[in-house]
Amino acid sequence: MQANYAERLAETRRLLQDAEYIVIGGGAGLSSAAGLTYAGERFSENFADFIKKYGMTDMYTASFYPFATQEEKWAYWSRHIFLNRYAPPALPLYQKLYELVCEKEHFVLTTNVDYQFHKAGFAPERIFAVQGDYGKIQCAKGCHDKLYDNEELVRRMVKEQKNCRIPSELVPKCPVCGGKMEVNVRKDEYFVQDAAWYDANMRCDAFMEKARGKKTLLLEPGVGYNTPAIIRFPFERLTYREKDVYLVRLNRDYPDGAPENRKKTVAFRENMAGVLNSL
Ligand SMILES: [Zn+2]
Repeated sequence: MQANYAERLAETRRLLQDAEYIVIGGGAGLSSAAGLTYAGERFSENFADFIKKYGMTDMYTASFYPFATQEEKWAYWSRHIFLNRYAPPALPLYQKLYELVCEKEHFVLTTNVDYQFHKAGFAPERIFAVQGDYGKIQCAKGCHDKLYDNEELVRRMVKEQKNCRIPSELVPKCPVCGGKMEVNVRKDEYFVQDAAWYDANMRCDAFMEKARGKKTLLLEPGVGYNTPAIIRFPFERLTYREKDVYLVRLNRDYPDGAPENRKKTVAFRENMAGVLNSL
């Protein structure tokens, strides 16, 4: 739908109202628009020592940095986790999303690992965080399918680190194989999907099944092309295949969808907070 801004807002309001089921597909752009930016001031102010020592440019690329020691790795990661998972309160943009959908049957599918949907009030059983959770650690080799809460450990690592290193006694070790630990975020084939992950996956499928043939709105804020196979492409397919499925896409960089779906998609390139707060 190539309408002007006011018309697209009106159309989105109508779709929100008419929908019996709403699926939110939240990507990195949503957290960024909500305030959890990975570059710029938020990075340079919080990581001055790491920038000086390692030449890091932003939190996204820094998360792939090949640290030589576990002490350095966890000094970086504890601060990264703290800043993005524990320090921020529920952010207004996420709260706005909750307000928009909470009275309808809704479900959240997200690649974000910062727990913002939980903080905003979404019920845990209505969230499938496919790519993990900054708040958990796992065996780096995935030798067993269990996750461990890291809040207390992360807070200590943040507090006790000096010169970009944590004290060696804080380095976590796998309780089963004795090897290294990692944050539970999908970055390689060792990512651990525990029982709760599979439960969430099943609940997501069941929700989609229930919504089949019903008026369904797919609301897709901030999903780009990092991992399009998780949200973006499935949403396009559903919109194409199912008569009563509509897609509302909020995306600064890639608002356009499949040409076949043009009549069933409302796309916004405009400022996400501006759009959501106008609904
Ligand atoms: Zn292990």
